[in-house]
Amino acid sequence: MSGKEIAIIGGGPAGLMAAEMLSMSGYAVTVYDGMPTVGRKFLLAGKSGLNITHSEDYQHFVTRFGTASHRLRDALDGFTPQDVRTWASGLGTETFTGTSGRVFPTVMKASPLLRAWLGRLEAQGVKLMTRHRWTGFADSGLVFETPNGPVTVQGDATLLALGGASWPRLGADGSWIPLLSDKGVEIADLQPANCGFDVAWSDVFKDRFAGAPLKSVTTMSEAGTFPGEFVVSRHGIEGSLVYAHCAALRDRLTRQGHARLLVDLAPGRSLERLEKDLARQDGKISLSNRLRKGAGLEGVKAALVRELCSQSILQDPAQLARLIKALPIPVVRPRPIAEAISSAGGIRLDGLDKRYMLKALPGVFVAGEMLDWEAPTGGYLLTACLATGRAAAKGVNEWLNFG
Ligand SMILES: Cc1cc2nc3c(=O)[nH]c(=O)nc-3n(C[C@H](O)[C@H](O)[C@H](O)COP(=O)(O)OP(=O)(O)OC[C@H]3O[C@@H](n4cnc5c(N)ncnc54)[C@H](O)[C@@H]3O)c2cc1C
Repeated sequence: MSGKEIAIIGGGPAGLMAAEMLSMSGYAVTVYDGMPTVGRKFLLAGKSGLNITHSEDYQHFVTRFGTASHRLRDALDGFTPQDVRTWASGLGTETFTGTSGRVFPTVMKASPLLRAWLGRLEAQGVKLMTRHRWTGFADSGLVFETPNGPVTVQGDATLLALGGASWPRLGADGSWIPLLSDKGVEIADLQPANCGFDVAWSDVFKDRFAGAPLKSVTTMSEAGTFPGEFVVSRHGIEGSLVYAHCAALRDRLTRQGHARLLVDLAPGRSLERLEKDLARQDGKISLSNRLRKGAGLEGVKAALVRELCSQSILQDPAQLARLIKALPIPVVRPRPIAEAISSAGGIRLDGLDKRYMLKALPGVFVAGEMLDWEAPTGGYLLTACLATGRAAAKGVNEWLNFG
């Protein structure tokens, strides 16, 4: 043992990965967490199939972090998607690649992996102090609220991995923001990422179709063109196909006050064919029959056309065909961050040195979702949390040894 003590605050994937690295390097590591147990969001992520990383070409993978891609590159190179799979395998969790290229544990869940991981950390001497909510810095160290009152802790280095602000009841609620901004750390506002959007549906439409899936459609925005399915909700639209457009729609709403998701409801038919098929229909038959016979649209797809198109468009085969191929759904606002899969924003990356140490607070390192990056769903989030946890741990080691 080096005799040096490291306080890691936050027992999510980023903090636990840092604990694994630092305890392996011989430091006395304590992980503090405000919740009664650690890894709650990780466990929740496993409820719908833990998508732990992605198998796409690595050169493509590393571009998925938007403007932060370049800055995260060293951390990702240090813990690639293949490393994630090898690491999980080392903990007894084998993985497989789904048809979309996403990588999952064969058991789909996170619980066996987390159990084995916590067992290994304990064997490496990592102490877990749960129900310790970090409330700030004091001259004498780090201050925590605990069931037995406030506690102050001193360490040779501190690593914060406090997460973003989605699903706050799982522990990460962004309450660290004032604690760090008071110390001069620059933080971009936390915003919902990988979230649904509100749409001003009519009562008739939402009463009838909330919960209905729009299957086999293609969606388009500045983010790109993606096939798949999404769901109509009472509030608006939800689902992984919407999440893929989240950053583009959210940022356009911020910039311009309005944004639209374009949907091709009949991706299997060309515009020309659709126009001909619609024009061939007898003008006397009902709109439902025209949409069904002329465009193959029924149920929620046909209802969406009625909901969003004016009467004059519905009567004109050429305009109707154009809209069926690119129907604009006007989104009003993102759903609240508490419902989002992840957060955008956080500690600005130019406020960190290469070792993931805060320039404003020497000796304090940061990792995971609390940093200012975002990525789509697909295993990118967990991979980057694990990778930055490792990179920050490496940074602690370098700083303690070489200053
Ligand atoms: C429903 C859902 C499904 C998801 N599915 C996937 C998926 O399949 N694949 C994927 O890649 N990602 C997924 N994610 C995202 C992924 O779970 C997160 O990106 C990841 O958990 C973030 O890791 P982290 O360690 O940075 O933070 P967190 O996991 O949020 O951990 C932060 C920890 O810090 C603690 N903490 C916070 N503030 C304090 C404080 N003041 N004092 C003490 N402790 C504190 C919290 O209690 C928490 O334990 C999903 C998220 C959700 C909500």
